Amino acid sequence: MALIVQKYGGTSVAGAERIKNVARRIAAAKDKGDRVVVVVSAMGDTTDELIELAYQVTEQPSGRELDVLLSTGEIVSSTLLAMALRDVGYEAISLSGAQAGIRTDSAYSRARILKVESQRVVKELEKGKIVIVAGFQGITGEMDITTLGRGGSDTTAVALAASLGAEVCQIYTDVDGVHTADPRLIPEARRLDEIGYEEMLELATYGAKVVHPRAVELGELFSIPIQVASSFSQNPGTLIHGGVSMEVRNKVRGIAYDLDVAKITVVGVPDQPGIAASIFQPLAKAGISIDTIVQNASINKITDLTFTVAKSDLAGAMRVVKPIAKSIRARECASDAKLGKISIIGTGMQNTPGFAARMFDTLSQHNINIQLITTSEIRITCIIDEARVKDAVRALHRAFEVEMEE
Ligand code: ASP
Ligand code: MG
Repeated sequence: MALIVQKYGGTSVAGAERIKNVARRIAAAKDKGDRVVVVVSAMGDTTDELIELAYQVTEQPSGRELDVLLSTGEIVSSTLLAMALRDVGYEAISLSGAQAGIRTDSAYSRARILKVESQRVVKELEKGKIVIVAGFQGITGEMDITTLGRGGSDTTAVALAASLGAEVCQIYTDVDGVHTADPRLIPEARRLDEIGYEEMLELATYGAKVVHPRAVELGELFSIPIQVASSFSQNPGTLIHGGVSMEVRNKVRGIAYDLDVAKITVVGVPDQPGIAASIFQPLAKAGISIDTIVQNASINKITDLTFTVAKSDLAGAMRVVKPIAKSIRARECASDAKLGKISIIGTGMQNTPGFAARMFDTLSQHNINIQLITTSEIRITCIIDEARVKDAVRALHRAFEVEMEE
């Protein structure tokens, strides 16, 4: 008798009919003889609506209150799902994150899971019940409710799977798995039957929305296979696991894009020790996460420093950086909020020359200007004009498609 964790996203539980559909799917898993733990997201756009409501009341909602407010979205969906299961004759119980033993630090709105004390979940499973856990939330040592950051229910699901020693964590969403590119943009994009953690982590971090990067990271750490599939079909989806063949050479596995990129350039910075720290330490203190950082080779001990942030962080970052730029006698501080990034990803690119050249050539053939380039062992990312991102994805998918045939 296997133990499985299933997670259903917001679209899958948006409305009574969909909740009943999900209940039927869970019942089918239970009928197979498996022990089933389910993690749910809030219904539809509930979380966005709650955030909006909070900001209608105040410009600066308290972190603690906001997290309690947002956690209610998942409470609603978990209780309704438990009711729907009982209605079709299955013993089910809903648990909040706190009741399920999800212990976190106290960083409101982006809490990290410290440990999962899963005794209560185990006890209910032993009684033969289906356990429905409210995703995206936990509790601090002080018994305050926290949330894990947007999209955090995936993380809840994999953390529970790890703590319970589940055979697999199934993530059900509105697309039928991981594709070579966003299938809404590229109709020819192919669904991948399987993908390794490392590649999936890069894809998710660089814009593929199908599974949260933190969940992939946890899955890799605890060797939990993650199956991503649609809750609206019986398609097996994509299995993310550690056993994917490493010797698949000369292949790009997938293409990711992200439209949420803004750039700041501090122009004419003195090239001396301590300058980068003087800029990035205050940014870190302000809670602004930096993505790409590029420093030009200096000429006459003067250089330019460019970095990117999420668009929503641009104004805050400029407020921090402008006075610093002045104090270090930089020439100017410029920004551009209309950028996006595109990435080609695949372990097959490791130690294989030619991928970067091919990528740049494809972009140039489409007259797409590259502003910044960053790479990892298995990824090449170009930051380009936001308006050209979709053209770039199409062009790159076409250019590398041959390699993606299995
Ligand atoms: N409901 C939360 C959000 O929309 C968490 C989740 O969906 O995973 O971000
Ligand atoms: Mg959601």
